[in-house]
Amino acid sequence: MKKLPHITILATGGTIAGSAPSATQPGYTSGKIDIQGMIQAVPDLEKLARIEGEQISNVGSQDMSFEIMINLARRIDTLLSTKETDGVVVTHGTDTMEETAFFLNLTIKSSKPVVMTGAMRPFTALSADGPLNLYNAVAVAADPDAIERGVMVVMNDRIHGAHSLSKTNTTSVETFLSPVNGLMGTVIYGAIQYFRGPFRKHTHHSEFSLKKVTSLPRVDIMYACADMPPDLIDCSVANGAVGIVIAGHGNGNMNKATLQKAAKMADRGIFIVRSSRVPTGTVGRNMEMDDDANQFIASDELNPAKARILLMLALLKERSFQQVQDLFYTY
Ligand code: ASP
Repeated sequence: MKKLPHITILATGGTIAGSAPSATQPGYTSGKIDIQGMIQAVPDLEKLARIEGEQISNVGSQDMSFEIMINLARRIDTLLSTKETDGVVVTHGTDTMEETAFFLNLTIKSSKPVVMTGAMRPFTALSADGPLNLYNAVAVAADPDAIERGVMVVMNDRIHGAHSLSKTNTTSVETFLSPVNGLMGTVIYGAIQYFRGPFRKHTHHSEFSLKKVTSLPRVDIMYACADMPPDLIDCSVANGAVGIVIAGHGNGNMNKATLQKAAKMADRGIFIVRSSRVPTGTVGRNMEMDDDANQFIASDELNPAKARILLMLALLKERSFQQVQDLFYTY
């Protein structure tokens, strides 16, 4: 008989490991149940794969840090570089899932499956969604067709690519969408159907490396709003930001005062990326803003949180504005 694939589940916390005093109480605390408790709650997991569990952290993902992300990426690389491990599942809170997924998608050096999952309802809740999400995530990680698809997120029967997914609802189990370019596939009680592969460069094809990296350059996000005060940008730069992502109006727009300030900063060598506060659509170059004259970078498909991750990794090395813009069309 063929041996089942060997999958390691790395737990980082989140609502999937959350606990409440009763099954029907809406309030709860993230990151309370450990990895062994989560594994035991999923029936038939052992029929999909030989499972091992490791605890990386146990935090609500609002407290996810780059220190944890870097450790996680290194642990995944170590595991996947061995013959014994066929794939990795990461359990994670949903709040910053898209950021960690995209970070791993840019930094992991393996073609083997890396699948993230979480839950919107705590482990102790009535109709908790975590156990089925974990079951489906293991099914995808154990699937030979999951190789070379970059980091994926499995939630609520959907398979999303790390580049495209975004959290869209504060409480619903149907919170993740891939609004710009769609789902990668579906997984129903372990039965997988893929619709497409990843569109952009990822994992071992990526040029980013975490070798010797202990921290990342500071990049801040400014949320555009009516009559936005431009001095927030001064404050960011004074505190050490070397890049700023503007979560702009519409197609990455900002008011004149912010535009002037941002252009001045770009002239001083601060990298200004125009993304959008709008949940879907792309931000293109030279639409209402003159990116060529101002040396701004358009975020293309990336929302502000993911644009920030790409810019932080990009600025680990000296690059020109044009080179950074090219990265936004590549990853
Ligand atoms: N605040 C929680 C977290 O991100 C929410 C969740 O997991 O759904 O950890």
